[in-house]
Amino acid sequence: MSANHTRAPTGAALRVKALEALLEDKGMVDPAAIDRIIDLYENKIGPRNGARVVAKAWTDAAFRKRLLADATAAVAELGYGGPEGGHLVAVENTARVHNLVVCTLCSCYPWPVLGLPPMWYKSFAYRSRAVRDPRGLLKEFGLEIPERVEVRVWDSSAEQRYMVIPRRPAGTAAMSEQELAALVTRDSMIGTAVIAPPSHKAFARS
Ligand code: FE
Repeated sequence: MSANHTRAPTGAALRVKALEALLEDKGMVDPAAIDRIIDLYENKIGPRNGARVVAKAWTDAAFRKRLLADATAAVAELGYGGPEGGHLVAVENTARVHNLVVCTLCSCYPWPVLGLPPMWYKSFAYRSRAVRDPRGLLKEFGLEIPERVEVRVWDSSAEQRYMVIPRRPAGTAAMSEQELAALVTRDSMIGTAVIAPPSHKAFARS
């Protein structure tokens, strides 16, 4: 494993922190507004890119093949890449294998497809338990992986970052790529969740 991600924050990151603290002190920025922006990139805008990648992999066999062979090149076809991308590797969940992504040393994460990492991804508890007791950890996320399914844990680094291709849920054969993308959650691409079959409530109401 690379030691590259053990580096302290860069000068630029420290300057941003210092600037943010100063602006807050002077009442020039609202910390709640900053939190809302972070939430936007952490939960909304960021992971939608990855969701599009997953939906395309589910519906386009040739793309899925290219994605598994060279994810960096495949996501570039959709216009995704850039800083904090590193070399991207896509790992696919199957009936026999469930994949889980972690960065044991810090918080390496595939920004171009997943956005900003959630707080828990950076926590010591997550980083250590993902390796020591992945099944126990997944249970805390509400995910019980049957014994017959192998759990594979992938340790990200600055050079190599992973995304999980979750399994396509049942009952989605008639859905468009766009509708499928809407089902894909951030956590399912980290491996701490699976995607539930779509609810039929929308049809039952009306
Ligand atoms: Fe890291």
